[in-house]
Amino acid sequence: MEPVLDPLADYVRDIPDFPQPGVTFKDITPLLADHAAFASTIDRIAEAYRGRPIHRVIGIEARGFIVAAPVAYKFGAGFTPVRKPGKLPSAVEREEYLLEYGSDILEIHADAVAPGERVLIVDDVLATGGTAAATARLVERLGAEVVGFGFIIELAFLKGREKLDGREIVSLITYE
Ligand code: AMP
Repeated sequence: MEPVLDPLADYVRDIPDFPQPGVTFKDITPLLADHAAFASTIDRIAEAYRGRPIHRVIGIEARGFIVAAPVAYKFGAGFTPVRKPGKLPSAVEREEYLLEYGSDILEIHADAVAPGERVLIVDDVLATGGTAAATARLVERLGAEVVGFGFIIELAFLKGREKLDGREIVSLITYE
């Protein structure tokens, strides 16, 4: 799991066997704690989509919120959360998706995204791609267009890209 050399990789900490045995958790808290690394992360994701009309940035609970909100601010776009079930207070659209063992659910407020809006989806890590693909389905069900995805980290060996249908993906650190 060597990262394609990127200076930001110095700020990501590997935590073995978290949250369960066999998983190496990519801990971004050192990156968030360093002003220059955090600023560079936000600037580079925003830069990758500069000049494209983006009306809304979607952040996926929970670490995606931390990245998506400042990207939205930089674009002058709105921010919308996609959350685990039961957290959003108003009427929701929900999407169930398969995990390696079992399934999970994500929700978005049904009135959060307008038909025709151009949306960027942001999260901290692209792993198997199930989470990002489910989020794209929610956005498209509401009639909006997914312009692309932005991630700090891509675990390329898990082939998440294949679930995202050839759409544009920006990831700053890739582990092959
Ligand atoms: P996936 O649906 O498999 O692409 O998983 C992506 C989601 O799970 C993201 O919201 C990540 O925050 C989280 N995630 C998956 N694998 C890891 C990992 N190795 N380290 C940190 N977060 C992870």
